[in-house]
Amino acid sequence: MEQTVYLETLGCQMNKLDAELIRQRLGQEGYRFTLDADQAGVIIFVTCSVRQRAEDKVLSKIGQLRRRHDQQKDLILAVAGCMAERLGPALFDLHPQVDVVCAPGRIHQLGELIARARHERRRQVALNDPAEQSALEDLDASRRQTDADHPFMAYLRVMRGCNKFCSYCVVPYVRGREVSRPPESIVAEAQRLADRGVKEITLLGQTVNSYCHRNGTTTVRLADLLARVHEIAGLERLRFVTSYPRDFDERLLAAMADLPKVCEYLHLPAQSGSDRILAAMNRRYTAGQYLDLIERARQRVPGIAVAGDFIVGFPGEREEDFEATCELMRRVRYKNCFIFKYSPRPGTRADGDLADDVPTETKRRRNQILLDLQEEISLADNQAFVGQTVEILVEGPSKNPHLDEGRTGPADPAYSRSLGRSGPADSGSIQLVGRTRGDHIVVLQARPDRIGRIVPVRVVRASALTLFAEPVR
Ligand code: SF4
Repeated sequence: MEQTVYLETLGCQMNKLDAELIRQRLGQEGYRFTLDADQAGVIIFVTCSVRQRAEDKVLSKIGQLRRRHDQQKDLILAVAGCMAERLGPALFDLHPQVDVVCAPGRIHQLGELIARARHERRRQVALNDPAEQSALEDLDASRRQTDADHPFMAYLRVMRGCNKFCSYCVVPYVRGREVSRPPESIVAEAQRLADRGVKEITLLGQTVNSYCHRNGTTTVRLADLLARVHEIAGLERLRFVTSYPRDFDERLLAAMADLPKVCEYLHLPAQSGSDRILAAMNRRYTAGQYLDLIERARQRVPGIAVAGDFIVGFPGEREEDFEATCELMRRVRYKNCFIFKYSPRPGTRADGDLADDVPTETKRRRNQILLDLQEEISLADNQAFVGQTVEILVEGPSKNPHLDEGRTGPADPAYSRSLGRSGPADSGSIQLVGRTRGDHIVVLQARPDRIGRIVPVRVVRASALTLFAEPVR
């Protein structure tokens, strides 16, 4: 039991990637993994600090382990990730049962910290340290595993940290300043992933389009990196997230237009449609500049799908600011949006300088208005796909059969009818899920031999979240 680990991850793709690397490193050190926390001798939480809710969630989980920790003397409880850096040793005061606090920049040492906590019976804390950058790079470069649930798709980190200091955000404080990984190392990792059967790679960075690696007189930016990864045989699709509007240049749009493997998809958070609020957020662009970028992207890359992020109830947000956000949403017509109610994050400029003065009820109302507006847009735009043939990468069996309200099980005649077929579904067919190049989720009833392949499908029905399709023979 001592060598059995239960690992739970909260938050963004960066955290999921960190969790994958922790799993790999601990596996090499002789640990086994379990999905049952009760069977574990080591419990690790990879935490998120971006919103208060994410922190509250993990603090509550840690709280629930107190009694067990008192009873099971050799149980090691480790907190890794952004919350570990933000709270540091203060976590021991909040929850004395925590044994290890490990910041995102020290995850390569997590196994060592766990072993020390166990053998020395002393709490261990490791916070970010710029001197550890090369060890972190080695950890990234050592990556061998891919997500077992999605063996044909992989995220690949191209940079760490962020220099933007948006006034509401803790990321630059908990993940440190921007560091772009060497392009050779990224290309080698992409090659290894492709050799293991990965068809689609998403290059990952907090502000991925700010990627910039300098070596002597050579500067490699994201457009150059995309061109290099594009050369890898076997790889069929390339994406990159998340983009920062101000750093988006024409060369990157040209790369999207010219490199066939680069998908017509952009995740480009606007956060607000009001220039006054954007300035208070320190986003360093205006709504007009953002819209201009969207227009140029749509001209250069026809059919491009855009996903967005918004924060409602930022300090000082008046009705007219919120209306400007709604207007921006209507004009851009996002494929989907992540919408958050503002919550102050300790240590950020907004928390120090601005009063959280928008009432909770107003935040809730504005949040709901944006959700409804986005649903209306997504439904209308998805319905425009009905009758079209699109190309999808089939990821695997659908894990959410409820996605199609007309379907109750594999090869279900009701599902066949919902797809417009009169007879029963093919025997041996199951519900599969895949994604278009624009990242639309597609559900179809088909034989599992399509998994891992890029296939054409005809869209027969659409909801706001999902396209329902049938195979094209
Ligand atoms: S760009 Fe702004 S919101 Fe995004 S990670 Fe950096 S500071 Fe946070």
